[in-house]
Amino acid sequence: MTEIPQFSLEESEEIGALLTEEEIPYERRCVITSSGRAGFIFSVQDDRFLDAIRMIKSHCGFLDAPPEPVSGTCPACNFPVTNAFECPDCGLSLSFNPRELMQNHPFVIFLTKLEKETGTIL
Ligand SMILES: [Zn+2]
Repeated sequence: MTEIPQFSLEESEEIGALLTEEEIPYERRCVITSSGRAGFIFSVQDDRFLDAIRMIKSHCGFLDAPPEPVSGTCPACNFPVTNAFECPDCGLSLSFNPRELMQNHPFVIFLTKLEKETGTIL
């Protein structure tokens, strides 16, 4: 079994339902995080681990096309922007990248570390 950290109760219920739908057997256990909240860790069989990871990535929108650069006017400071991912003046992120928005999520931290270790984008 390989562990996949770590989700809130609500997230873990969605992911559990998806794993069941994909017929990926799993165990879910509850841990108490450093912030004192409940977190949920999935364990799946080693040979279904990558299936489960891809399924969760897809669920989070990480498999969608990479964001496009934006041209126009920054909605925060009205600075003119040409072909940029963020405003050169105020730094506002102008493109929607779900993985970037979730960069402090335990699953994203786990995923990034795993991809670094294996040298592949899963
Ligand atoms: Zn701006």
